[in-house]
Amino acid sequence: MFENLSDRLSGVFDRLTKQGALSEDDVKTALREVRVALLEADVSLPVARDFIKAVQEKATGQAVTKSITPGQQVVKIVHDELKHVLTGDEDPGALKIDNPPAPILMVGLQGGGKTTTTAKIAKRLKEREGKRVLMASLDVNRPAAMEQLQILGTQIGVDTLPIVKGEDPVAIAKRAKTQASLGGYDVYMLDTAGRLSIDEELMAQVEAVRDVANPRETLLVVDGLTGQDAVHTAENFDERIGITGVVLTRMDGDGRGGAALSMRAVTGKPIRFVGLGEKMDALETFEPDRIAGRILGMGDIVALVEKAQQTLEVEQAERMMKRFQKGMFNMNDLKMQLEQMMKMGGMEGMLAMMPGAQKMQKQMDGAGIDDRMLRQQIALINSMTKKERANPQILQASRKKRIAKGAGMEVSELNKLLKMQRQMGDMMKKMGKMGKGGMLKQAMK
Ligand code: GDP
Repeated sequence: MFENLSDRLSGVFDRLTKQGALSEDDVKTALREVRVALLEADVSLPVARDFIKAVQEKATGQAVTKSITPGQQVVKIVHDELKHVLTGDEDPGALKIDNPPAPILMVGLQGGGKTTTTAKIAKRLKEREGKRVLMASLDVNRPAAMEQLQILGTQIGVDTLPIVKGEDPVAIAKRAKTQASLGGYDVYMLDTAGRLSIDEELMAQVEAVRDVANPRETLLVVDGLTGQDAVHTAENFDERIGITGVVLTRMDGDGRGGAALSMRAVTGKPIRFVGLGEKMDALETFEPDRIAGRILGMGDIVALVEKAQQTLEVEQAERMMKRFQKGMFNMNDLKMQLEQMMKMGGMEGMLAMMPGAQKMQKQMDGAGIDDRMLRQQIALINSMTKKERANPQILQASRKKRIAKGAGMEVSELNKLLKMQRQMGDMMKKMGKMGKGGMLKQAMK
């Protein structure tokens, strides 16, 4: 099975951090693996080649410092280079929507998440910038798509242009423009039709709409899971229509971070947002730092901390992060994590953001992770004494039996929980070891 970039790179760096000093051979060996990983992650060959070359030059030029570990050194160089390649606009989330009504053209292939993303952006503009937004579907071939946008509009409280049967896309675009002006809207978004693949008819249609609307922003929505295909799609749309930015969807999945890297390197167009799920809130501004961290297998710690802060007292979060940095992670910490997971809409969303989580998810596969399970795990922890929670390693057979019984569960369930606590503890320790200027400290700033 395909091993993703995160897993692969964290394997490489695990080995490096265990070695002593960093020799040139070390760098070469590590970078060979990084290269393979990049290619497997669907980064295109020229992009991978350039990337490795740049890293190698930087790494060889740098003196090996004894005070930091070789792993830290290479991680830092690879991270910086990833960031360098990924960096787009100063502020990718700031759309050009002055001069109302500002048109935003949404383009892409069918199924890429265009309609969903249109609504997500509309919601964001409305809630974060107080904009009045009008959305219009131009997908005359699929009445269901028009209805879908209408339903989403109702759901998020954003107006949609009334559907008129038999109208062509250009006529709809004109009507949207008029309606937006008359209705005093700040922004109108045109959700164009998609096809399963790029064809002449689709392009001609989008072109005609573009010429009528004269959009301030033309955002291409592509499925981040499709790797190189996404990059080709972007090249095609950019050549023919001229795009101002890209939205990568399905970055919540078992994603190949490589798409983001290639996309940026090949098209030169900034990635503006990433889609992280089906829900209307699952859209984030693209942040090179975060994606670089994610590609490196360091997990999206910044996002994790941000989310934690929304629901946790800030102090509590800080205390928690300090403990993790010291490599401390007992049952009280685990309990807190489990409770947070329940609050944050389940395990999956949370795990996706944690370092090494893909590995863990694989191990826990089939364990039926859901709220019920979270509740049972919390019950097990509740059934422990204070001493046991602080030092779970003291649990031998008789204690285990007592705890399981107290929670009305089997000892095997408790063993699973203990394994999870150990694995999470190890992950936290690794994160802590990143040391000075490590991800955790940065995340707390
Ligand atoms: P369109 O044909 O391009 O308009 O695609 P849709 O907006 O209809 O989306 C197709 C499917 O992908 C829907 O089921 C969406 O809920 C889902 N989807 C869209 N964006 C994301 C995302 O970022 N993550 C995930 N997991 N699903 C998404």
